Amino acid sequence: MTTSVYAMTTNDWARAFQERGFSLSGLHFWLDGLYKDSSLWNRHVASNTVTSLRQDFDFDLPQISKILKSEDGTVKFQMQFKDQLEVETVLIPFPKRYSICLSTQVGCAMNCSFCYTGTQGLKRHLKAGEIVGQYLKAYEWLLQNDAKALKPSVVFMGQGEPLHNVDEVKKAIEVFNDTKLIGLGRRQMTLSTVGFVPGISQLKDFPKINLALSLHSPFDDERSRLIPVNLKYPIKDVMQAFDELPFIKSSFMTFEYLMIQDFNMNDEHAVALEALLTGRKAVINLIPFNPFPGSGWKRPSEKEVEEFRQKLVAKKLRVMVRSTKGDDILAACGQLKIDQQARNYVR
Ligand code: SF4
Repeated sequence: MTTSVYAMTTNDWARAFQERGFSLSGLHFWLDGLYKDSSLWNRHVASNTVTSLRQDFDFDLPQISKILKSEDGTVKFQMQFKDQLEVETVLIPFPKRYSICLSTQVGCAMNCSFCYTGTQGLKRHLKAGEIVGQYLKAYEWLLQNDAKALKPSVVFMGQGEPLHNVDEVKKAIEVFNDTKLIGLGRRQMTLSTVGFVPGISQLKDFPKINLALSLHSPFDDERSRLIPVNLKYPIKDVMQAFDELPFIKSSFMTFEYLMIQDFNMNDEHAVALEALLTGRKAVINLIPFNPFPGSGWKRPSEKEVEEFRQKLVAKKLRVMVRSTKGDDILAACGQLKIDQQARNYVR
């Protein structure tokens, strides 16, 4: 398989130039041509360099096969790769800038019981170029619809467990973070995991991005019902793996907490969360469960959400309630799955 140009950092390109005996004076224009305006190549890069690189690398981006727009401004793209497999990528509007939620696998092996994606199993890992490609296509669409939009931030919260595909995700993050390429700041990227311990330990070699753990219950028996991989990597092991990261003490980390009616929102949960998170730089992100067809779990009422929030605040925990976006097009957290029947086709 030919390497995608979107899986390469500036250093990779410098190596590619040197290996081929090309002058590095054209490197800067080559990179700008790749990400901004390919007409630069005609004026500033030797034609044999362009011809040779065009032959040696894969320039293809995923194709947008469908687009769904939510009433709240969220846009869900169905992206298709060369092998016809598809993932979903979600553009989420916030007051000042957009965020793009990226998929890292086609399907997912983690089989979380609250997640629509988990019901389809893992088809394959995405390559770094396919992860970056989702961003570039969604950003291109955004600029066509909002020419003044700032460069969107990135969340790795789409289909797949990012740390189950850790090498390709790391490579994609390096490309996003590369100031000569996409140039996202490290704090403009957030990686969310269900606690895949072998991948957590590898985060020490990543650029220092924001981290989030899908916690959802402080009790292993309950958490295992939601996230089966918790049977193999229980909460204690997950927290220890995070604690061993050199930068974790100086950075805030988000603990995602899916609120499910009659399941994980009583006094005992508040007490156990206090015990687990006090003394850490932790922010709890409360997310009312998004029902999907066939899910057995129920969404709490707004009153129940507020009551649980207050219980946590009373324990001096930092808490946010995430407003779910894109519910009407199944673009919200845990709802991504290619499913023709479960949505309205807009484009
Ligand atoms: S919640 Fe994430 S890790 Fe769990 S099945 Fe869904 S996509 Fe996979």
